[in-house]
Amino acid sequence: MRILVISDIHSNLSALETVLFAAGKVDAVWCLGDIVGYGPDPNECIKLVRDLPNLECIKGNHDSAALGEVDQQTFNHEASLAISWTKHALTAASKEFLLSLPEQIVKGEVTLVHGSPRNPVWDYVMDYMTAIRMFQFFDTRLCMLGHTHVPAYWEEASTDSSAVIPLDFQKKTVSGRVILNPGSVGQPRDRDPRASFAFFDPNNSTWELQRVEYDISSVQERIKKAGLPWRHALRLNDGW
Ligand code: ZN
Repeated sequence: MRILVISDIHSNLSALETVLFAAGKVDAVWCLGDIVGYGPDPNECIKLVRDLPNLECIKGNHDSAALGEVDQQTFNHEASLAISWTKHALTAASKEFLLSLPEQIVKGEVTLVHGSPRNPVWDYVMDYMTAIRMFQFFDTRLCMLGHTHVPAYWEEASTDSSAVIPLDFQKKTVSGRVILNPGSVGQPRDRDPRASFAFFDPNNSTWELQRVEYDISSVQERIKKAGLPWRHALRLNDGW
């Protein structure tokens, strides 16, 4: 069984289309939130995501903000500008889809959230010390999350406090309790500008990270055309 795990698309249609093409045929798709925000293609991305096979999709903090569910002041100035732009751009159908998304889903032995199992929408799990505290907040063996835009793999049983960034594997059999992050499709922040995603096979419990180059300049052109903050276009070049 092949499940495509994606997160933090951030209205980047070029990256999303490339990832879906590279992924090929999959049995299901798990999307860990932030379909919108930062980028120029919110409705196009939502339309593509909602039709994916056997979709499970979480609501992220940018999705929530674009619906006006949270105070925009909690975002930095440029992120907030993009949220205001997205609010106006979203169609009724797009809003309806985002509104329907839950903050947490349990699928078999996996808990899916955007930020963390403690605070599904807002927490950042950036380091091992934070990750290790999160294991008490979910009951399943595995937890998949996004939000940081950095691929990560944290084992509860590990004695290595750096476990495991930078990631030193592409494919791994996941044993024990682990928190997994597939990285970001539309705005990677680990100094690698390629779109990031993962495959999960629940039968063999394997986790496989993938990166793929996409046409960054085309999304930058649309960011410019939309009048969105230019910094969000520039950072795509550096994966930061
Ligand atoms: Zn995000």
